[in-house]
Amino acid sequence: MKKHNFSAGPCILPQEVLKQAADAVVNFNNLDLSLIEISHRSKDFVAVMENARSLVKELLNLPEGYSVLFLQGGASLEFLMTPYNLLKEGGKAAYIDTGAWAAKALKEAKLLGDVEVIGSSKDKTYNYIPKNYTVPSNVDYVHVTSNNTIYGTQFKEFPKTDDALLVCDMSSDIFSRELDFTKFDLVYAGAQKNMGPAGTTLVVVKDEILGKTSRNIPAMLDYQVHLSKDSMFNTPPVFAVYVSMLTLQWLKDLGGVKAIEKLNKEKAALLYAEIDRNPLFKGFAEVEDRSLMNVTFNLTDESTGEVFDKIWNEAGISGIKGHRSVGGYRASIYNAMPIESIQVLVNAMQQFEKEIKN
Ligand SMILES: *Cc1c(COP(=O)(O)O)cnc(C)c1O
Repeated sequence: MKKHNFSAGPCILPQEVLKQAADAVVNFNNLDLSLIEISHRSKDFVAVMENARSLVKELLNLPEGYSVLFLQGGASLEFLMTPYNLLKEGGKAAYIDTGAWAAKALKEAKLLGDVEVIGSSKDKTYNYIPKNYTVPSNVDYVHVTSNNTIYGTQFKEFPKTDDALLVCDMSSDIFSRELDFTKFDLVYAGAQKNMGPAGTTLVVVKDEILGKTSRNIPAMLDYQVHLSKDSMFNTPPVFAVYVSMLTLQWLKDLGGVKAIEKLNKEKAALLYAEIDRNPLFKGFAEVEDRSLMNVTFNLTDESTGEVFDKIWNEAGISGIKGHRSVGGYRASIYNAMPIESIQVLVNAMQQFEKEIKN
């Protein structure tokens, strides 16, 4: 039997997507060729890329004037591409430091200009989202991390930026909830958390913001170069783009982002209710900032860990150990996670309570 996979990333993908992907690796579109042994310029693959891009536009309900790219290098390369493309010579950027990924992003920006950290939750191991910050008037852009995968916190409201651009790392919650994308100027996401396998990075960018820094940008780091070549400036990661396309099609067939958001809320509510009810657990993140994607919790008594670990292991649960910087547990419940698997985890938590009581 397949495990209940709560891994934080790479992570669960829909079972039917895995089967379709496996078939295409052997025989793609009945060409008697593998998806990964044909030219990326072939009409069959160009159609995949176009379909993937148009599914992104449709599912995110992107307004006119926004483009979609599938790049490589992960979200980590976007940490550098963002300042390269948006930070003016002698300019300044504002960052909100909500965790290890946000901190890595702002470290890269510092290589290219002035960075102001306008809010940080580092004082409490990033267990909340800073709220009382002010956006300075003289910055080129503001950078936020919508969902903090390691700590289980999520922005429910985004900064109002007036003249500055708003940039968002949405790696671990893109396609999980409805958002108004007209508020964002640049959004990026590594595929491997809610869209597909590792190997490609989704970028959504408002066209008119590019080409304004007077910087010399290396071709591979230049969004305009990639846009002018429809994400095929060099060989794209064909497998990762294909599986992302299948996952996006799966999401569309299910009713799109609105439908999955409803399910995601039900799933998260089920698990958080047990964490709050069960005296053997306590939630890690501040209640109002809790993530719908990564549910972090600790034992109230660390010494009971062995008993709990044995129970969930035997229930076929995988991947709920917390990140080493936080400890405890983290259940990642991305789009593809069925509520039945969450019920299995809740049952394990209740069985643990019974065993400790006896
Ligand atoms: C995983 C993750 C990253 C890093 O992504 P890579 O694709 O491995 O570079 C960045 N930001 C967030 C929010 C993440 O969850």
